[in-house]
Amino acid sequence: MQPQILCISNQKGGVGKTTTAVNLAAGLALEGAETLLIDLDPQANATSGLGIDPRAHRRGTYHTLIGMGEIDDIRVPVPDVEGLWVLPANQDLFGAEVELVDAIAREYRLKEAIERAQHRPAFTIIDCPPSLGLLTINALTAADATLIPLQCEYYALEGISQLMQTIGLIQRQLNPDLGIEGILLTMFDSRINLSHQVAAEAREHFGDLVFNIQIPRNVRLSESPSFGRSIHHYDRSSRGARAYQRLAKLLIERRGAGEEAR
Ligand code: ATP
Ligand code: MG
Repeated sequence: MQPQILCISNQKGGVGKTTTAVNLAAGLALEGAETLLIDLDPQANATSGLGIDPRAHRRGTYHTLIGMGEIDDIRVPVPDVEGLWVLPANQDLFGAEVELVDAIAREYRLKEAIERAQHRPAFTIIDCPPSLGLLTINALTAADATLIPLQCEYYALEGISQLMQTIGLIQRQLNPDLGIEGILLTMFDSRINLSHQVAAEAREHFGDLVFNIQIPRNVRLSESPSFGRSIHHYDRSSRGARAYQRLAKLLIERRGAGEEAR
């Protein structure tokens, strides 16, 4: 089976990118699909959210981008989660956008690093920072598809058209094969009218691109990072865990169906 590379992108801050990246990656590993989570955000929330101290690792994603290390050597196995690795982020990444500006093939740095790796997990999930800068462009250039979390809040759709324009630009100039895996409604609260409004509006604009699976607003999801565990290991029976597990299963199913069709 072809390994799949998915980036989690939305330049809006706090919409659930990292929560999705971490819990989807852990969910995929739990289903038996080897997964690498690449933390491409200098905030390093995906790294610390899985119990890995960003300061404890001398090298991280940054070093693979500047050609000072290989993913195979730098990735860290996630404690207690078989088949899951993290390429950790640390503060060095803050400088990467500026440092890479003059670099040759600067948009392809992540793609090339992934292609150089010997170990090819079934899934590679990339957690993007909240911007459309060079780091996110590297992710979109490296990915087979992007998954877009959409927070069920005021102004949720604001910025999505800009993201779609960027995706179109990347498809034309850097990665013609980039697909959109889907738009994922996050922090959905069925008691609140606004959640239903945002869901309806998203479906009106984007139709089938919107996943039927919605991620509920769930306090367990917001607690789990402070324990350095994915939701599946923190509270497996929570609604948040069940939603992310369904999403992991769906992506594995889609991939299987795609293989059969070929
Ligand atoms: P940034 O743009 O800063 O990287 P982000 O898009 O990665 O943010 P998260 O960090 O995943 O967003 O989520 C923002 C906040 O909302 C976090 O405190 C997180 O714990 C919380 N959160 C995310 N999803 C949910 C949810 N479904 N239910 C409750 N809280 C959530
Ligand atoms: Mg984040």
